[in-house]
Amino acid sequence: MTSYLITGGAGFIGSHLTDELLSRGHAVAVVDDLSTGSMRNIDRFKDEKRYSYTIGSVTDVPLMTEVIDRCDAVFHLAAAVGVELIFQNPIHTIQTNIRGGEVIFEQAARKKKKVFLASTSEVYGKGETIPFSETGNLLFGPTTCPRWAYACSKAIDEFLAIAYWKEQSAPTVIARFFNTVGPRQSGQYGMVIPRFIRQALAGEPITVYGDGGQTRCFGHVTDVVGAVIELMERPDTNGEVYNIGNDQEISILDLATKIIAMTGSSSQIKMIEFEEAFGPDFEDMKRRVPDASKLKELIGWDNLRGIDEILSSTIDWMKQEEA
Ligand code: UDP
Repeated sequence: MTSYLITGGAGFIGSHLTDELLSRGHAVAVVDDLSTGSMRNIDRFKDEKRYSYTIGSVTDVPLMTEVIDRCDAVFHLAAAVGVELIFQNPIHTIQTNIRGGEVIFEQAARKKKKVFLASTSEVYGKGETIPFSETGNLLFGPTTCPRWAYACSKAIDEFLAIAYWKEQSAPTVIARFFNTVGPRQSGQYGMVIPRFIRQALAGEPITVYGDGGQTRCFGHVTDVVGAVIELMERPDTNGEVYNIGNDQEISILDLATKIIAMTGSSSQIKMIEFEEAFGPDFEDMKRRVPDASKLKELIGWDNLRGIDEILSSTIDWMKQEEA
């Protein structure tokens, strides 16, 4: 049995990771400030003896020192996430991501505890060399657009992780998550799939931003979590960066149409200019496709759940939630 700490363990991916680690016989301690995580994601594990949680911040040094001392390895998932939230709270975003990373890496390095850093495909910014490969360049826009603050703050976390590995041999692995979806994801902070499904189930207009021609690649959280655990457990991943993303691409307009069809909804599609939704300082990525060959060569990541299965599992869950 390994004792894992999950920062951000009350979040969507963190709660699925908790499920899987517990089912494999490990112990899980969670620290979460509930800024975007939910108490429901903690409550579901409350009776499990190998589970514990603390409501607190990753920037709280005494707390993090204590919980890191008690665990064998850390999944660092706590971060400010969600495009809308990042626009509304840019200071919180920068502080949580950068200070949080500093605290985690400093404390974990003291005892050489491995850190899995949850980074993001946002770090590729508006790069146009598709698919995005881990060795490719990162391309950000101006500092007046808060989206790039998020991308930069996560890139700083990556630099820190690699610096601790190179200078102090502190074990770490970095994963760049592409859009990850499934049951328990909230649409509250902008994530497109739970938002469109909620709108479709309520018969409300489906809010497609821009011309809807922008594409994304969606991975099922269960597939993603499987890769996360493999990357943590393998010693040969130290100091490395991996994309975790399904390479099946779909436009946002096609996604809206598919969700309307799959839910049998009477909703209409409503096109909204980015400026109307986010104000003038907004930039969206036209395409975002992972090159997942590095991950696939390492762990043989295949037979991934496709968009239909992703949507049906999320629709079923949201229907149950509403019932
Ligand atoms: N999107 C949309 N309507 C919404 C929410 C999102 O058209 O109500 C679009 C958004 O502009 C982006 C894509 O869906 O092009 C994915 O958005 P999300 O915030 O889920 O993730 P991102 O990939 O942008 O981080």
